[in-house]
Amino acid sequence: MKAVKYCGVGHLEYIDLPKPKAQAGEVLVKILYCGICGTDIHAYSHPGIFDWELVLGHEAVGIVEEVGTGVTNVKVGDRVAVGPPGDCGNCYSCNTGHPNTCAHAFFDTLGIGPGTQGAYAEYVLSKHPQNELFLIPEGMEWEQAVLFDVIGVGFHGVRRSDMKVGDDVVVSGCGSIGLSVIQAARLAGAKKLIAFDPVEEKRALAIKAGADYALDPGKEADLKKAKELLSHAGGAQVSFEAAGHPASVAQCVELTMAGGQVMIVGSDGRAYELVSAALGPRELDLKFTFTYTKEEIHTLFELIAMGKWSTQVYTVEKAPLSEAIETMEQLSAGKLTAARVLLTP
Ligand SMILES: [Zn+2]
Ligand SMILES: [Zn+2]
Repeated sequence: MKAVKYCGVGHLEYIDLPKPKAQAGEVLVKILYCGICGTDIHAYSHPGIFDWELVLGHEAVGIVEEVGTGVTNVKVGDRVAVGPPGDCGNCYSCNTGHPNTCAHAFFDTLGIGPGTQGAYAEYVLSKHPQNELFLIPEGMEWEQAVLFDVIGVGFHGVRRSDMKVGDDVVVSGCGSIGLSVIQAARLAGAKKLIAFDPVEEKRALAIKAGADYALDPGKEADLKKAKELLSHAGGAQVSFEAAGHPASVAQCVELTMAGGQVMIVGSDGRAYELVSAALGPRELDLKFTFTYTKEEIHTLFELIAMGKWSTQVYTVEKAPLSEAIETMEQLSAGKLTAARVLLTP
């Protein structure tokens, strides 16, 4: 079968691999679409994300082709989402309701850790089907289901925040994660929801996703407008950083009220400075968020199936698996702006 292997920064290879076979406890899935995650793009562009070789791909959908003995959660022919949240079920994080920060299993799951083979491929072998495979509800399109990673991160970020119904909210960055934060904050009852993005098309999508205002962070007049709009001394109760950019972190800090919270959702590994003199007297809370849980994916699939979560706001483009290398090159150079590019084996 064909697959795309990550061999280091700026280096992908389109290779042949033997088609895997499902042994006891394993499931073989034929891949229909695999999204190119921002993490994959960062790994292609910068060192420090994956320090090992692997077949990328941790957000895919496909059809169950083989089921090993002992597997109970899926059967041959099932439509499944194939995803990354690895949890061992035994550690402190898993036992205290935070399986997404499990210290043991994350790197064992698909297309993430050393020795994993992800879904930039015609087939993927799931060794932990209970953790990695989610049934796609009847009637949900493949193109909707494959967005679970994009949506899950924003959804979890809002659930992990202290945001309450009636709060003013700032979202900095209106890429796919930002659009998910906006939808989740809208569902959770935000009062004024102010989004920021330097790109006009992304601001238009932010309004479509439920933001009340979409402003340009590069314009002084827009920052002034945001401060006037926010009810409490120029600050939101909660700001969400979803751009993965140091300047966006600083802007979130600036636009959060005393006693408010800054949620870091979009960090891409770059360092940023926080000036404590500006933070201390305002007693700001700074909180981080990481991926999502299985339960959240099940909830999200139900919300999408019920029409309560729009997948229309995410722009999607498709590219054949054989063109993964050129596509990654374009993504890394910022020449493709779709919320998700889906590889089609
Ligand atoms: Zn991802
Ligand atoms: Zn664990």
